[in-house]
Amino acid sequence: MTTPLPTITFPNGRTVPALGQGTWRMGEDTADRASEIRSLNLGLDLGLTLIDTAEMYASGGSEEVVGAAIETRRDEAFLVSKVLPSNASREKTIRACENSLKRLRVEQIDLYLLHWRGNHPLSGTVEAFEQLKAEGKIAAWGVSNFDVEDLEELADMPAGSSVATDQVLYNLSRRGIEHDLLPYAAARSLPIMAYSPLDEGRLLPHPILAKIGRELDATPAQVALAFVLARPGIIAIPKTGSAERVKENHAALSLALTPAHYAALDEAFPPPATKRPLEMI
Ligand code: NAP
Repeated sequence: MTTPLPTITFPNGRTVPALGQGTWRMGEDTADRASEIRSLNLGLDLGLTLIDTAEMYASGGSEEVVGAAIETRRDEAFLVSKVLPSNASREKTIRACENSLKRLRVEQIDLYLLHWRGNHPLSGTVEAFEQLKAEGKIAAWGVSNFDVEDLEELADMPAGSSVATDQVLYNLSRRGIEHDLLPYAAARSLPIMAYSPLDEGRLLPHPILAKIGRELDATPAQVALAFVLARPGIIAIPKTGSAERVKENHAALSLALTPAHYAALDEAFPPPATKRPLEMI
């Protein structure tokens, strides 16, 4: 019998495992396309149904890879894509979404995000998101790289409370959101998507991860992911184009860190004592 995966439920009731798949830098090199499609499919086989992409990634190339990967199994995937701030006006958001739908070759995006705040008024972006939802082109919408004050501003707008997630940078070396954004989101049952949970690989050489890994028969990547996954209300979206690493990252779901491990991690990567401005990559 296999243990059920920890899950996250979005405000519209859709539930996904707390580990998803990132796709930044996929679609950049056609030589990698087959292995990228293979790794996304293996992730789906293992139940990692949420796939995160964006119109920005490889200028649409990542969405095309995702579209190819899910072509015969659309219903198994929960697709997240993002509109660039420069495209996030009331009118252009609609077109950007329609272009993403074409590249993904699907009728609907499950969750559509504003990639980060730009110069277009947020109210216009939200109106466009609501129109896309009413037309069935997206099932839900959210934001990315929003700090607490941005979320508060959003909450005060008409339909602002329909926000379904905030996707932000979170990993052992970027713990600022533990001070304010995570408690804010938890109080509102707003799921947080943790991007770059391995800090784009920079975390992995840290000796404490190797030490804990030796004790648990785990890799540094698994320890770093287990730290993020242990927090309720968070979905981590590591990216890998390697099938072996998809299996490795998936196994992090069943890795349990002990209080002594958390203490050692806190010493190496101190939690925030005061407010830190939201970091982004
Ligand atoms: P990440 O997931 O922290 O790290 C990805 C890097 O780690 C890749 O170089 C990958 O290489 C490597 N890797 C993955 N698993 C590994 C393992 N088990 N062992 C060793 N190396 C491993 O960084 P990320 O791609 O920046 O973030 C994840 C996803 O979050 C992105 O792909 C994207 O979907 C999203 N994101 C969103 C934003 C935003 O502004 N909203 C910003 C950044 C990222 P290989 O592919 O060669 O395995």
